[in-house]
Amino acid sequence: MKLGQLGHVYPVVNQTQCVDCKLCQKVCPALNGVDLHYPLSAYAAWAKKLDEYKSSTSGGVASVLSRYIISIGGVVYGCSVLPNVQIKHVRVDSEDGLAALKGSKYVQSSITDILPLLKQDVANGLPVLLISTPCQIAAVSKMFKSIPPNLFLVDIICHGTPSNDFLRAYLAKRLKLDLHKITNISFRSENAFSLTVYDRKQLLWKGSNLWSDRYNDVYYDSFIDGFTYRQSCYTCRYAQPNRCSDITIGDFWGLKNGNELPAHPYGVSVVLPVTSRGKLLLQHVSGDLNLFERPIQEAIDGNEQLRIPKKMNWRISSFRKCWGWYPAYFWYHLFVFDKMLLFRVKRMIKKYLRKGLAWFDY
Ligand SMILES: Cc1cc2nc3c(=O)[nH]c(=O)nc-3n(C[C@H](O)[C@H](O)[C@H](O)COP(=O)(O)OP(=O)(O)OC[C@H]3O[C@@H](n4cnc5c(N)ncnc54)[C@H](O)[C@@H]3O)c2cc1C
Ligand code: SF4
Ligand code: SF4
Repeated sequence: MKLGQLGHVYPVVNQTQCVDCKLCQKVCPALNGVDLHYPLSAYAAWAKKLDEYKSSTSGGVASVLSRYIISIGGVVYGCSVLPNVQIKHVRVDSEDGLAALKGSKYVQSSITDILPLLKQDVANGLPVLLISTPCQIAAVSKMFKSIPPNLFLVDIICHGTPSNDFLRAYLAKRLKLDLHKITNISFRSENAFSLTVYDRKQLLWKGSNLWSDRYNDVYYDSFIDGFTYRQSCYTCRYAQPNRCSDITIGDFWGLKNGNELPAHPYGVSVVLPVTSRGKLLLQHVSGDLNLFERPIQEAIDGNEQLRIPKKMNWRISSFRKCWGWYPAYFWYHLFVFDKMLLFRVKRMIKKYLRKGLAWFDY
């Protein structure tokens, strides 16, 4: 693997050692694709346990599924923040260990280390759950002739991943944080979208909330605007209604008449069982979830990445061409300058209007 554009890792064949057996081509999901299936049904869901619900990214479905697999003696593979801000998938075999997997890390997670462990666990007959981006799920599927009955695959709806290298550089150079001190990074807490960095319980950094205070956190802003994804994300074959896993989970952005459902103040997950095995797994955890069936089309209409990949535009391509000459934040701000200005002017007008209205109240 080699670092490529924007710090993402790309596979490179060592021509001096390659014996041209073509095995890598046979298992490559990018060359061969994997079977995709339209979801069987759609649900709006959130965890019944309040602490599990509050501490999760959307509705905590990933957490509920993981707990179930551990409770039947299985293992879970998910994304964790390892020392020195290495974002990697890890193997978890106890309920205590699941805390490290909680929360979306908006960065590419390395799955290289877990692949042999996962294969061994599957061969040993353990119930195995992998929660990952669709492209990683596809890669793991290709390791097997057919998906073994004890392997459960859950993909998270994904609009793209910045590189681990960019995140590390941002924390160290822009925020001047010591990477060795960082033990956890959170990208979302309750309903706020903000980058928060911890040394155990001690807060090292709290970025501004993306929606109320835009253009103050280049890592998050450039992620949301789709500037820093891996090149493959702009043509992602998994950003569509047909899915490559047993269950797809994500945020239920397009939920209609959500106020007719019981209160769900900390977000709501969309859950799309795709295979009969996925449907059965969901039935097993249904007692731990508030689960409401919705039209499949409602989920698809509300979530762009269930329809199409992120579109490349002139701003993104110009930013990518300039990458490496100056710090990324310089180029990002340059290519969104008009949007940034408009946002600030609008905010100023709103502020003065609010002040004016308050004055009339007296
Ligand atoms: C890079 C990325 C982009 C996303 N884009 C969208 C989107 O466009 N639309 C949408 O609806 N939802 C998106 N999501 C999913 C969403 O943010 C939640 O992760 C999802 O709804 C699960 O929430 P939860 O409350 O059930 O899980 P939580 O309890 O918060 O757990 C999150 C789960 O996701 C896994 N995970 C976390 N980070 C990564 C990562 N970097 N790579 C692989 N697996 C990871 C963890 O192992 C864990 O199992 C994205 C997530 C990521 C990581
Ligand atoms: S798997 Fe075979 S073809 Fe692929 S890089 Fe290795 S030796 Fe070469
Ligand atoms: S957008 Fe597609 S290619 Fe990019 S990380 Fe997500 S699933 Fe993989």
